[in-house]
Amino acid sequence: MALPEAFIRELVARNDIESVASSYVSMKRRGRNLVGLCPFHGEKTPSFNLYPETESFYCFGCGAGGDVITFIKRIENLDYIDAVKFLASRAGMQLPEEQVDDKTSRLRMRILEANREAARFFHSQLSKPEGRIALDYYRRRGYTDATIRHFGLGYAPNAWDELGKHLRSKGFRDEELQAAFLTRRGRNGGSYDIFRNRAMIPIIDIRGAVIGFGGRVLDDSKPKYINTESTLAFSKSNTLFALNFAKSTGRELTLCEGYMDVIALHQAGFPNAVAALGTAFPEEQVRLISRYADKVNLIFDADEAGQKATRRALDALKPTGIEVKVITVPDGKDPDEFIRKNGPERFRLLLERASNAMEYRLMRLGDRYPLNTADGRVNYLREAAKVLAQSSAVEQDIYAGRLSQELSVSKDAILQQIRQAAGRREKQQKRQELSRAVKQDMTILRRVNPEAETFPRAASAEETLLGVMILHPDLIPKVAAVLSADQFVTSLNRDLYAYLLQRQSQGLLIELPFFAADFDEASMAYITRMVQAAKDRAFTWEDAEKYIAIIREGQVLRGMKQPESLQNDQIEDILRVMRDRKNKKDI
Ligand SMILES: [Zn+2]
Repeated sequence: MALPEAFIRELVARNDIESVASSYVSMKRRGRNLVGLCPFHGEKTPSFNLYPETESFYCFGCGAGGDVITFIKRIENLDYIDAVKFLASRAGMQLPEEQVDDKTSRLRMRILEANREAARFFHSQLSKPEGRIALDYYRRRGYTDATIRHFGLGYAPNAWDELGKHLRSKGFRDEELQAAFLTRRGRNGGSYDIFRNRAMIPIIDIRGAVIGFGGRVLDDSKPKYINTESTLAFSKSNTLFALNFAKSTGRELTLCEGYMDVIALHQAGFPNAVAALGTAFPEEQVRLISRYADKVNLIFDADEAGQKATRRALDALKPTGIEVKVITVPDGKDPDEFIRKNGPERFRLLLERASNAMEYRLMRLGDRYPLNTADGRVNYLREAAKVLAQSSAVEQDIYAGRLSQELSVSKDAILQQIRQAAGRREKQQKRQELSRAVKQDMTILRRVNPEAETFPRAASAEETLLGVMILHPDLIPKVAAVLSADQFVTSLNRDLYAYLLQRQSQGLLIELPFFAADFDEASMAYITRMVQAAKDRAFTWEDAEKYIAIIREGQVLRGMKQPESLQNDQIEDILRVMRDRKNKKDI
């Protein structure tokens, strides 16, 4: 990365991690550090730690960690250079010109240009005889010409290389089109269009750039949809379809299942409709929603999949405090069908009669038990208590009152059942969170530095030594004089050690934020973790020598496991260490 050291140094100085992170996470001071609920995974007890002294963070729940640049990369979903730009503009700093000219950013620009040209191409097909089939399809759905233009709808012709040919004639290269998920390389080396004979719906981001496409079949063939997969310009989890229109309609969004529902709602006069392009509701998407809305109406299909999506969305949105309502479309219709048949006014009534999250849950639960029998009521109440156990005291009081009337059971008895359920739930949750945290931590370690598992003692000595060296760079030359990088047992630690020696010899600063350009996010988290673990240790040169000895012993073990990979001088080293060890034992 070509950014000058002095620039990054100033960038980090002007963006201290505490003030940057606190605009995303609310944190409490605990000793020298701050703790809060992690913005990178859902949790009830805080495991997100911020360390102002080392300008770093680490989450013990999900293993996210690193410096301020890594934090912005993750939370804003940016690559390194864009995260640097983000922080630069936050601090009012100018980025030196030539550094903006980064290969990845350039490819991303080309993808956006190719997408825009492709969108124009698809739209223009509608006025050709071959595109008639798609135009008829849109008309059958009741879309007006204005709607078709507004959304830039189009048609991908029923041919193998029409789009590719067109875009190449406009100067785009095959690599760019493949990176944009517009064409693919065929088995014979040629190129073919990914979208063929489909109704094309451009996906436009909030800045107005075409970032991807949804392509729907015009008949009943499969797959019904082909969507742009992850590209440099598009990530499904960070996108809401039609947010470019909906964002300026106020702080209320109507979240639907698919493109077609959204388009129908916009045409019917509900321009705040958006679609999530999936039913997983990852955290980036939830953050995106909460950036633009205080109120969300969920309107998914009435089928099993739609109900599942509703529950997932309710769960995902719950921690945000957004007011969520669930709209149930009668007769098992999807919103698009309902509006076509009954008109917008009836739909507005549905919106007004939407149930809140709790009402929706209790209603779905009520469908499952026969409330006219004593058994049915007992079982229903037990399940309802579990649901209410997750809500506020005020909600519990209100719904206990309602249930008491509906089921002729005393309110006190219901409240007591809720309290019991809440107690059980809390205990269970704590257990789950702990075991998840332990498991997560192990998974991350294994992934980032897999050899640590095979050589745990040596790996842990390496990590302590590296952590201490990062905290006290004056130790680096002393350690370097007696320990070479190839003596390290695990490869990530070896790379980090070599990296430290190199920076030191070039007179560069040894601080986490400078590492972010050279290590990926997982490694940054790993490194942060070792620095934090080393921070609380008193450290002398004798300790260092002890760790160096353990690393050498580890090298012996590694050598015995993979003798064929050894160099002659390494074998000498190993024999010497083994002799030392034997002598020590003899004494
Ligand atoms: Zn976390």
